[in-house]
Amino acid sequence: MRLRISSNIISLPYLTTNSKMKDTKAILEILARDFPNAKSELNFRSPYELIVAVILSAQCTDKRVNLVTPRLFEEAPTVEALAEIPTERLEQLIHSCGFYHTKALHLKQMARDVVDKFGGQIPSELEELQTLSGVGRKTANVVYAVGFGGQAIAVDTHVFRVSNRLGIVSANNVLDTEKQLMQAIPREQWADSHHYILLHGRYVCKAHRPLCDNCSVKQLCDYYQQHVDKSI
Ligand code: SF4
Repeated sequence: MRLRISSNIISLPYLTTNSKMKDTKAILEILARDFPNAKSELNFRSPYELIVAVILSAQCTDKRVNLVTPRLFEEAPTVEALAEIPTERLEQLIHSCGFYHTKALHLKQMARDVVDKFGGQIPSELEELQTLSGVGRKTANVVYAVGFGGQAIAVDTHVFRVSNRLGIVSANNVLDTEKQLMQAIPREQWADSHHYILLHGRYVCKAHRPLCDNCSVKQLCDYYQQHVDKSI
């Protein structure tokens, strides 16, 4: 086992104990029953529309993105059209999603990369998706899993919060959370598990007021046992 030593602090690599692995399996089975039709709530008809919607969804709700994309895809139906649309017009179209200046920049950079490097086709491999400008690790993971049926765990704010509260992982950043989830969950369940955990965070394990009393996995939740259960 390798130890990382820094500033007199020794940190051990995260280890998944047998009991926690058992809990994770049970948690995911319950969440699968809670969300039997778990899938992305973004509307899209192609990998192109999906990658655009995912870029727009940063710091924005899926509902808002779904209101904006029909008009956007009317005016920019292909990646080539997106690469050519005037930036000012693009910013107008996506204004209500927030961070419109940065998002417009990312969308156009991504579109140009897809045209120049991949002949106008959104690449289907995770490594290739990650080479696109404006496409971070989370966006690449979502497009790979949702658009191409690959196995990946995209860690957004919901997945980060819920995984740590439940105790499936113990991490203070999204990259470590993703690595620990990949260790704790069988590979063939990565994509589905991402949806279960995300939807549980969106509708039950909310950031400020988690609905612990109504939570189906509270008996398996570290946060509940440490904070809520003792206060009753
Ligand atoms: S018990 Fe509370 S903190 Fe734990 S997963 Fe459920 S809602 Fe979240």
